Amino acid sequence: MSIVMNGIDVAKAMKEDLIKRVEALKENNVNPCLAIVRVGARPDDLSYERGALKRMELVGIESKVIELPEDINQDAFEEAFKSVNDDPDVHGILLFRPLPKHLDEEPVKGIINPVKDVDCMSSVNFAKVFCGDDTGYAPCTPEAVMEMLAYNQIDLKGKRVVIVGRSMVVGKPLAMLMLQKHATVTIAHSRTADLAATCREAEVLVAAVGRPRMITEDMVGEQAVVVDVGINVDEEGKLCGDVDFEHVEAKASYISPVPRGVGSVTTSVLAKHVVRAAEYLHNR
Ligand code: NDP
Repeated sequence: MSIVMNGIDVAKAMKEDLIKRVEALKENNVNPCLAIVRVGARPDDLSYERGALKRMELVGIESKVIELPEDINQDAFEEAFKSVNDDPDVHGILLFRPLPKHLDEEPVKGIINPVKDVDCMSSVNFAKVFCGDDTGYAPCTPEAVMEMLAYNQIDLKGKRVVIVGRSMVVGKPLAMLMLQKHATVTIAHSRTADLAATCREAEVLVAAVGRPRMITEDMVGEQAVVVDVGINVDEEGKLCGDVDFEHVEAKASYISPVPRGVGSVTTSVLAKHVVRAAEYLHNR
């Protein structure tokens, strides 16, 4: 039987530290604030927004939501974004993406102040992640994976890690964060030959694909650490990950569930980034 890595425990541990840091900022008359910019009202965005607002409130961070009409034109969208970016009371900005098809997100990636870019939209922050410069912000999900492994005291040094998925929001930045911890990292994807054999080699296996329960027991090595980033809805309408938890659990040493896994840590990382941004802007 494996140890289940519960994301809620990780979030709870992070909360204590964040509350102290927010209190220290408030003693210096700094009121850390996250601005959420949302175009339209996609159910996924609204669901993440509710979780983010709740998390910010729990640690004492103020939030504001800038809701823009779904049919806003590019100029008006950029204007609205600039005014949030220039607002001295805003320390961190989260823009929900993908944007509606008629909008181009590239200009705002260039506009956003990298210090306020708490979810790693700008190339400045991506470059910092790839250069191993920890003054930037990694995207929240890969950092949530790192928080979960650290909380469970899983040392990555010298370990064979396989990450399935090579997106810019999860797989690639996660590979860089793990390299910084001295892991030997393989990134697998849809063209990987013999994915099962590649995965079986992993001492730490991360699934970030978006296919319900595709990582089956035969793809997991004995006593591997298994982290499931996937968030899927199966044919019965049930929320599930990329890992066949029920069958993999017996083989792994540690495994993260879905729900209550990595997804529960993501908004805590977002809160941590807002606090870091507020501390930086205050000390500058
Ligand atoms: P993308 O669709 O951008 O990337 C999926 C990756 O999986 C691609 O690299 C793709 O390969 C690879 N892939 C697809 N099919 C296969 C296959 N059959 N075998 C091997 N690799 C495959 O997804 P994201 O990275 O945005 O998200 C991945 C998952 O993580 C989703 O379930 C998403 O919902 C979840 N997620 C969870 C978050 C959280 O907070 N927990 C936040 C963000 C995402 P290729 O590049 O070759 O196409």
